[in-house]
Amino acid sequence: MVITASSTNRKEPRRGAGVKSPDVWLEEIPGQRHQMGQFLKWLMPLVLGFGLLEAGASAAFRDPGSGVAGLTLFAYGASLEVARRWSGRMERANAAIAIICCGFLLACIVVALAQPFLITVIILAPLLAVGVALPYASGKMLRRLLVVAWLVAVIIAVLSEISPSDSRLPGWYAAPFHVACLAAAVAVVLLLLWQFRSRLVGALVQARLAEERALYDATHDSLTGLPNRALFMERLRQALERAREAGGRPFAVLFLDLDRFKNVNDSLGHVVGDGMLVEIAKRLRACVRVEDTVARLGGDEFTVLLASAGDLGEVLEVAERLQRALASPFYVRGHELYTSASIGIIPDSRGYERPEDLLRDADTAMYQAKREGRARYEVFTGEMRRRVLETLRLENDLRRAVERGEFYVRYQPIVSLRSGAVVGFEALARWEHPDRGEIPPAKFIPLAEETGLISRINRRVLREACRSAKVWQERFPEHRPLTVSVNLSPVQLSQPSLADQVAEALAESGLEGRHLRLEVTESAIMLGAEPATRALRELGIRIHIDDFGTGYSSLGVLQRLPADALKIDRAFVENVCSADGAQIVQTVTTLAHSLGMDVIAEGVETDEQLERLRRAGCDYAQGFLFSRPVDARDAGEIIASSLR
Ligand code: C2E
Ligand code: CA
Ligand code: CA
Repeated sequence: MVITASSTNRKEPRRGAGVKSPDVWLEEIPGQRHQMGQFLKWLMPLVLGFGLLEAGASAAFRDPGSGVAGLTLFAYGASLEVARRWSGRMERANAAIAIICCGFLLACIVVALAQPFLITVIILAPLLAVGVALPYASGKMLRRLLVVAWLVAVIIAVLSEISPSDSRLPGWYAAPFHVACLAAAVAVVLLLLWQFRSRLVGALVQARLAEERALYDATHDSLTGLPNRALFMERLRQALERAREAGGRPFAVLFLDLDRFKNVNDSLGHVVGDGMLVEIAKRLRACVRVEDTVARLGGDEFTVLLASAGDLGEVLEVAERLQRALASPFYVRGHELYTSASIGIIPDSRGYERPEDLLRDADTAMYQAKREGRARYEVFTGEMRRRVLETLRLENDLRRAVERGEFYVRYQPIVSLRSGAVVGFEALARWEHPDRGEIPPAKFIPLAEETGLISRINRRVLREACRSAKVWQERFPEHRPLTVSVNLSPVQLSQPSLADQVAEALAESGLEGRHLRLEVTESAIMLGAEPATRALRELGIRIHIDDFGTGYSSLGVLQRLPADALKIDRAFVENVCSADGAQIVQTVTTLAHSLGMDVIAEGVETDEQLERLRRAGCDYAQGFLFSRPVDARDAGEIIASSLR
């Protein structure tokens, strides 16, 4: 409800962009034109009343001056009617004020000529005209009017000197008439002053509203109407202060990030995405109490401040409620949409000094929830913080390592189970950290993939591997040409330049494409690496599916995969000595063979495993049983002994 109210407020049209121009009489203040109409309704009878009085006096006392004055007042009254009609329309309102003020001054000059004895009253005329314009006119127009009014005052003064007074009005009539005119003039001035006051108040209210609007805009998200990051941080700061006071209670912070929201924007467009965000904001808001804050930090990130957190259970309950609220479908512009959120939780604000720290840690926990598979929540722990710092440090080191080339390649032999001979090597990246020694790829490869550094690392590995393979081939011409296998990361498979890079590495080393194997995980292939792998196969390169069995491809999809061999994951090889395990390997092998693929077993550590694999029909094997990954020189030794 809160959101709806604030968003309708926001849609109120902006006022006054063009009306601030100094040439405009009316500044558009709400109700002002209406106010002018009211004023005219009041002024007209007065003018006509005096007109009648003058006409009556002219008839009764045969006074021509009164007749002229009466006629003038009727004419002015008629022009006021025109002004009244125009005052309702913005584009004519300025002309209306000109009629009221200038018509009035003109009438005064005529009346002063016809009734010189009224001159003391008419001297008030310029004051009156300015008074009329005061509540409505802009500064520049008012200045012009002041000049005109001053000129009129001078004209009237001159007239008073030159026009002879030949009034036939009797004294008993003239004196009270004089007083009545004076009273009416003073009343009009007072009324105008009062109008001016209400205009001032209106302007002040307007200014305050504009200020409030500006403050609102600066602290709220324009799409959803929720508080924005700035306001959320401010509320966090206030909450921290309150919690620090004696008897203050700790509070909780939740950080939500929608899962795969980008898909909605990308596939259905931003209008649908925005509509969904608005709906999400409403649902989230409805899940918490009035004193809690739901904010949109931007994009698909939302935060919640639970003003008074009870125990952990209560906070988790809110997190679950938020997730349930997002679970039911959204209907936006004829689309049925689903979403979920990953939530990071700080259940207790104690121990925090700064709002930024709270937000950072909630974000960290959210990130952990994403990593653990999305659509779930994680409570922040100190361990997470340590891991983040460690990752940050590692990331910095990794960048430096790429610059300085701290990477090198190890080779692990791949052995034919039929002949027992070494047929090739798998190239494995290693990082020699200057302080921390060797860092295993399991630790730095995911980070390198995240930061995009993987391409540079892998290019290095690829070039070095191709060069080594060529050296082995030249050194052992009597050996069947040795192959080298290089791992590709999914990131690389989506790079259009991959085939060129590989071709370059081949050309540089002189290795033939048919002696290079590229290992790609099955999930990478499933994610749409087919075009890239096809281009590579055209270079004569063979594609091996790595870690087979750990991904989610069904056996049926194997048929489609553009690959030459399967590498059965170590997890299956570990199990191969059990009846079930042997059966699985047997099935996979048979299937692969029927599709024309070779089978390579990874991580073979015992003779028993080797025997089982051989019986299951595996073609090649690799593992500590034969050799750990070694440097290029030791690899040469292995080839030499294989020849013997
Ligand atoms: P992977 O491609 O499955 O590589 C095989 C891993 O198993 C290697 O670990 C190897 O040392 C290990 N291994 C081989 N035989 C045995 C065994 O008998 N027992 C056990 N327990 N382990 C064995 P490593 O070198 O730590 O590499 C880990 C993963 O890092 C690799 O798995 C691969 O996915 C990735 N990786 C390594 N080098 C590169 C690279 O240059 N580029 C890319 N993209 N990924 C790489
Ligand atoms: Ca591999
Ligand atoms: Ca593998």
